[in-house]
Amino acid sequence: MDANGSLPAPWDTVGDRLRERGLRWTPQRRTVIEVLAAADGHVTGADLVERCRARDASTIPSTVYRTLDVLEELGLVRHGHGADGHEEFHVRPQEEHGHLHCADCGATWELETSQASAIESAFRAIDGFEIDIAHVTLVGRCRACAGSS
Ligand SMILES: [Zn+2]
Ligand SMILES: [Zn+2]
Ligand SMILES: [Zn+2]
Repeated sequence: MDANGSLPAPWDTVGDRLRERGLRWTPQRRTVIEVLAAADGHVTGADLVERCRARDASTIPSTVYRTLDVLEELGLVRHGHGADGHEEFHVRPQEEHGHLHCADCGATWELETSQASAIESAFRAIDGFEIDIAHVTLVGRCRACAGSS
């Protein structure tokens, strides 16, 4: 990315939107946005801090996390939790999805929409609980691991 250039949409308006929420548009925050704009899919908070520090050694983790909170309010990122509970961020989530993690082989998959809606409707049918499947990672054993013992 051109260091002096403008950010690609929808990131180009983030500075204004942060200011509307009372946050200053600082070089550190711009670095966070640049790193997110270059990322796709999933990024952990720790990854993001590390990538920001690679560009700007003065990056403070609390600035990164505070910025992520506001970006989540703006719908530009969405947090969920990995198998061990750590926060993972979906960058510009297109579709809500949960994750499956196999505790034996360590693989992680995104839940298909059909799998997610089967789980959601099962809970809804039991007692009307609206489960937020995109917030969690379901831990278990994949077919191959479960079949090998
Ligand atoms: Zn959470
Ligand atoms: Zn497995
Ligand atoms: Zn995901």
